[in-house]
Amino acid sequence: MAIKEAHIVLARCPQCNRHLYGIRVEKQPDHWALTWAFPIDESKAKSEGYDETVLNGTFHPSPNYNGCPFCGTKTFLHCPRCSKITCYHGESYATCAWCGLSGETKAQNNMSLKGGSM
Ligand SMILES: [Zn+2]
Ligand SMILES: [Zn+2]
Repeated sequence: MAIKEAHIVLARCPQCNRHLYGIRVEKQPDHWALTWAFPIDESKAKSEGYDETVLNGTFHPSPNYNGCPFCGTKTFLHCPRCSKITCYHGESYATCAWCGLSGETKAQNNMSLKGGSM
């Protein structure tokens, strides 16, 4: 079995004081599969360089994905301004936990956060 390409991306949970957590993602032929989420502190994330990871494509939770370690969600908003991800619970209006951009949200699978000024 070939070793899969995997990375750690960072997300924040707005329901838990915007706490930071890491998500392990594995490359699949047509998307990135989320495989594991774990709490991480800011200085560790920075020293590991996780905050510089940039991945393009579609993200889907794998069948075993455990979800946000704080609120348990497996869905995200992807912010068009800072390109970071925030836990999402189906709200029709949401705020990016990284940069504070807020706006109406589109369909859940679309993973985008539409800001008023964009
Ligand atoms: Zn969360
Ligand atoms: Zn943002």
